[in-house]
Amino acid sequence: MIGRGDGAERVSVLVAGAGPTGLLLAAELQRRGVSCKLIDALPEPLRWDRATVIHPRSLEVFESLGLIDRFLEAGTKQCAVKIYSAGELLGALDLSECGSSYGFNLGLSEEVTESILTDYLTALGGVVHRASRLTGVRVQSDAVVAEIEENGSRYRVHAEWIVGCDGLHSRTRESSGIVLEGHDIDAPWAVFDAAIAGWTDHFELNVGYLDAVPVILTALPGRRWRVYLRPSSPESDLVDDAASTVRRYAGGASFVDVANPTRFHCASKVANRFRSGRVLLAGDAAHLCSPAQGHGMNTGLQDAFNLAWKLALVCKGIADSSLLDSYEAERRPVAEMVAHSGDIVEAGELLTDPADRRSRDAAIRTTFTESSSRHNEIVAETELNVDYAASPIVLGGGAGVLAAGQRMPNKIPAGAAGHTVVLVPDPVAADPDAARLREAVQKIVDRSRVFETIVSLDASRALDGRAGSTLLVVRPDGYIGMRCEEHHLAALERYHALVTSQPSAVEK
Ligand SMILES: Cc1cc2nc3c(=O)[nH]c(=O)nc-3n(C[C@H](O)[C@H](O)[C@H](O)COP(=O)(O)OP(=O)(O)OC[C@H]3O[C@@H](n4cnc5c(N)ncnc54)[C@H](O)[C@@H]3O)c2cc1C
Repeated sequence: MIGRGDGAERVSVLVAGAGPTGLLLAAELQRRGVSCKLIDALPEPLRWDRATVIHPRSLEVFESLGLIDRFLEAGTKQCAVKIYSAGELLGALDLSECGSSYGFNLGLSEEVTESILTDYLTALGGVVHRASRLTGVRVQSDAVVAEIEENGSRYRVHAEWIVGCDGLHSRTRESSGIVLEGHDIDAPWAVFDAAIAGWTDHFELNVGYLDAVPVILTALPGRRWRVYLRPSSPESDLVDDAASTVRRYAGGASFVDVANPTRFHCASKVANRFRSGRVLLAGDAAHLCSPAQGHGMNTGLQDAFNLAWKLALVCKGIADSSLLDSYEAERRPVAEMVAHSGDIVEAGELLTDPADRRSRDAAIRTTFTESSSRHNEIVAETELNVDYAASPIVLGGGAGVLAAGQRMPNKIPAGAAGHTVVLVPDPVAADPDAARLREAVQKIVDRSRVFETIVSLDASRALDGRAGSTLLVVRPDGYIGMRCEEHHLAALERYHALVTSQPSAVEK
């Protein structure tokens, strides 16, 4: 074992686990020039495929990284969600109404998502250290000492921060005393991939059948489906189980070219903390949910996207480490919301009493028919219902799509590693001070290491009712960190102080 002072490797961030969460986090740190080591216990990527549904919010993230074309080429669109029960269609969601320029989920195997993210990391100069298992973590006042086993030999890495993206059985989490709270999902799940001969509907959708054997079909490329089900017994034939339900709706349908029938168990749990000193958790290491809504991987990706820019500011000495508390404040409530929503779906899916099933079906019909509840379902399905208005690092208010804490709907500018300051001119009268304001803001942007660019945006319709120029700050993860209508420069300074815990945006 190499001890400290004996040539142990030193990095700013050690990322444990190269699933989707760890890959995105490591790439985003790499892009910002933070020294980072990414390890994974497996000698090669996991071939057992899990996630198939990439939600629009994750597609927006991939767009901002310049990866969207690769994803769209590889995946298949899932434009609608249909729910059936007792032989009838209860309702359908048209995802084009979601409010994103990606009005669909993307069907793509997690394996492919991981390979695109690995290529992205590699192109940025990063690497996945495989067959490298984290076996222990010791936290010191100024560093984390990680013990790693690689091909039978052991070594230590000294890191300023460790992020556990090491999934369900996270060693990072166990070593840090952080606890997963929640419950196991007792009823087993099963999954297989197949084509469906005799399918009469279109191929760009996901379908939920809430029958005695509940089945979910999610579209994959090549007119194949990933079929999720709740098996009828511990020994039942999974394909027969799923076919017994699907045939009620499509009489001539049968599963063909079946691959990888597998049973699995899930849990609905959220870590009691996402940060303990120099230890952070993200992805499945921090939260687990029912696979029914396909949020697990997407939530992990968005954890990574939220954490990366904050960790980079801290590692570069621009922001105080207290910025990292906002990661838990922003992302833990999202994980709780997702786990809770999965619990509701699980409970509904497994009802057996006929009267309970009828009331469930009636409630779904109403939800899918009434326009505001249907809209709520669509934005939840597409993960566009997340906002950080209650975050300790969000400043200002406002209403509607451009309120502080909301995701910025306009694409500005793709790929920014730092914050973007957005000037929205007065929608009614020309502001005589507009040029002077822009000049003053530009000076702050030029001399700050937080604000990267300044852009103008004509968003008068989105800001109805206001007067004067509006200033927005869009964070690197695409959320509006600040909105102000007056005293713009002071507000910008206040926002800088909030994020960095330093008094002024202007470097002396
Ligand atoms: C059948 C199924 C279907 C699913 N469908 C969807 C879906 O449609 N959409 C969706 O969003 N989610 C879905 N999920 C959930 C999704 O698969 C997970 O949420 C996602 O894989 C989590 O990614 P992660 O990177 O956080 O963790 P993981 O993918 O679990 O990656 C963790 C990595 O850490 C490594 N590791 C573990 N321990 C160590 C250690 N000690 N040292 C070093 N490395 C270690 C592992 O080898 C692994 O590579 C599904 C899950 C299942 C089971």
